[in-house]
Amino acid sequence: MTNISNPAEIEKLRKDFPILGQKIYNNDLIYFDNGATTQKPQQVIDTIVEYYTTYNSNVHRGVHFLSQRATDAEEHARRTVQRFINAQSPDEIIFTKGTTDSINLLAFSFGELAIQEGDEIIISRMEHHANIVPWQECARRHKAVLKVVDFDEEGVLDMEQYAGMITDRTRMVALTWVSNTLGTINPVADIISIAHSHNVPVMLDAAQAVQHMRVDVQQLDVDFLVFSGHKIYGPTGIGVLYGKRKWLEQMPPYQTGGSMIKTVQVDTTTYGDIPFRFEAGTPHIEGIIGLGAAIEYVERAGIEAIAAYEHDLITYAKEQLGKIGRVKVLGASRPKAGALSLVIEGIHPFDAGELLDKKGIAVRTGHHCCQPIMDYYGIPGTLRISFALYNTKAEVDILARTLERVIGMLV
Ligand code: PMP
Repeated sequence: MTNISNPAEIEKLRKDFPILGQKIYNNDLIYFDNGATTQKPQQVIDTIVEYYTTYNSNVHRGVHFLSQRATDAEEHARRTVQRFINAQSPDEIIFTKGTTDSINLLAFSFGELAIQEGDEIIISRMEHHANIVPWQECARRHKAVLKVVDFDEEGVLDMEQYAGMITDRTRMVALTWVSNTLGTINPVADIISIAHSHNVPVMLDAAQAVQHMRVDVQQLDVDFLVFSGHKIYGPTGIGVLYGKRKWLEQMPPYQTGGSMIKTVQVDTTTYGDIPFRFEAGTPHIEGIIGLGAAIEYVERAGIEAIAAYEHDLITYAKEQLGKIGRVKVLGASRPKAGALSLVIEGIHPFDAGELLDKKGIAVRTGHHCCQPIMDYYGIPGTLRISFALYNTKAEVDILARTLERVIGMLV
């Protein structure tokens, strides 16, 4: 495994990802759909295979060797996540199915704890549906009010509106760190300090942040942070809810059953301590261990090195793609992370995406689970290019040349 302080190392690192060696319709695969899910390095695949071939067993229950080994591996992964985001304790790391599941857990449990009729929850218009619908449901259940922060043409949050929106009835601010559609990097430190000056907790949707930049929950002093394993080179079906101990210890469980209890009698139950109180049932053991391996992979490459490499790459892509006739990069004047959204005058993104696919280039077209963003711009969808540490400028050049030809064919 490679440390990518030298960009020339990327070619070596690409060999860790077996899928990238494939041909698609006789072309080298160029994978620019990393915002949807990233590819997996051999190290993650091997970790999962090793689990199933040598110590598959249920966790936290058995006295036998295999169960203890599986439990150790699971708790090692929890400590890996803790270290990676600099949480104070592994107890503050809850394993979930993914970002969506983490937000549903939070919206349910925090809602039960702290949201009452007339209270307010703040989200923004650039959220992924996963950070809209659970809060709509929470607001409906508790007769609370959902307030929405707007963004401008460049995809920048209206911070003045946000600061003026918080009242003594605001109970939660739930915002995305990086927009999966626009690539906007929100000013999370300011968002948190404004909320905290009113004693309001903040949840950050870091689904598009943890794989691209340093996340330090203690330095940010953020109350909750969520992300998915599969977008950071790990398996699907696994995600994280980080929560400050002081909140998690007060919140009621989201799901109940085995593994989350202290004692059960047929008519009454006492709950276990965090994190297990929020992890009912047999966990996604292979997913947890695989996520730990993925994070160790990222740590070896160096998250700062990844951030610097990707920043250079996305800036280059923004320039190259923005030069193509009819192409507009949404919010092009702003720094980006992870993704660029293109609008092509007179061409439906789906048509362009389909033709790129025939050249082996995987991009995403559509609303990217952000219909309010599409409504704001008055468009049906965008063509989204999203990046990972294995993408290169050479791939961007091929994309730019191919897109130019595709546009020529479609006009
Ligand atoms: N939030 C953001 C910003 C995302 O990009 C995504 C995935 N596209 C999600 C939430 C939902 O993640 P998952 O589907 O892994 O639950």
